[in-house]
Amino acid sequence: KAMVKAQNKRIDMLIKHVKEGCAADEDKEKESTIQNLSPYLPCLCPDVLFHLNLDTATTAFPKVFGDVRFVCLGGTAHRMEAFAYFIMREIGLKLSTSAKLKDLSEDGHRYALFKVGPVLCASHGIGCPSISILLHELIKLVHHAKCQNPIFIRLGTCGGIGVEPGTVVITSEAIDGQLRAAHEVVVHGQAQLRPTQLDAELAEELKTLCKPGKDGFVAVVGKTLCANDFYEGQSRLDGAFCDYTPAKKLEFLQRLSELGVTNIEMESTAFAALTAQANIKSAVMCVAILNRLEGDQITTPLDTLHQWDMRPQMLVARYMRRVLY
Ligand code: URA
Repeated sequence: KAMVKAQNKRIDMLIKHVKEGCAADEDKEKESTIQNLSPYLPCLCPDVLFHLNLDTATTAFPKVFGDVRFVCLGGTAHRMEAFAYFIMREIGLKLSTSAKLKDLSEDGHRYALFKVGPVLCASHGIGCPSISILLHELIKLVHHAKCQNPIFIRLGTCGGIGVEPGTVVITSEAIDGQLRAAHEVVVHGQAQLRPTQLDAELAEELKTLCKPGKDGFVAVVGKTLCANDFYEGQSRLDGAFCDYTPAKKLEFLQRLSELGVTNIEMESTAFAALTAQANIKSAVMCVAILNRLEGDQITTPLDTLHQWDMRPQMLVARYMRRVLY
């Protein structure tokens, strides 16, 4: 009996060894699926992803990040850490009892980065400049790691336009403060406009994963206004400064509604443009925490807001399970 057991153990080890050998060979053959990258990237030895506190000399990117299939972004480090634990349970992964997820970018003191199996979770801060710096570095990360067609998803909160608070809004196209379907990048003093269309099929698929009868909320697909400011940029009356009337405010919000805009947030143009430029499939899903046609201040109790926060995350978990299993 002992001999058979030892023999089986050796066979298992042999199979493991052969499998690992094949995986290593596959690794060698894999190429990055990211497109349109800077021609200067290959000259960067090492490439320092400064704000993530990672570099290609001290981290073996293909080994550490090569299995990443999804990159999820959200505003705060706290939310993304909670999301990392949530998604771990949802895709059936476990940590040993005393272990904790590590923030891989903690010492950079800018963004938080957690890895849970095939899911990378990063915090992006507020606004396009902040998410754009992170995206440059995350796009280089998945490129150096030779990830195969990773999908990027931004999860957040927004002001809804004409939707019930608690509704999940999935962006079809992001428009900027000047109502252009573009992300403006100023290079050498000249403004360049980059397109901000998001993957229509992915947006529709995410929407179908919401079961309003069972879930108790709806998901809609619509255009998103990406503002550069929370107050005047979003036509609020409750900022420190305001030189327009309540009537002008409503006129602007009505105009947005007529253009098919369903929500307002602050990162979607940069997110859509940078992922599209890299040929990365991506989506933006935000839960509306108020209806801007009805007010400006967020008065919903914190525990309700936390429950609403989970809504886009639940749909993403369903999507990941569908893709992975
Ligand atoms: N995020 C925004 O940018 N605006 C809102 O009204 C709510 C969340």
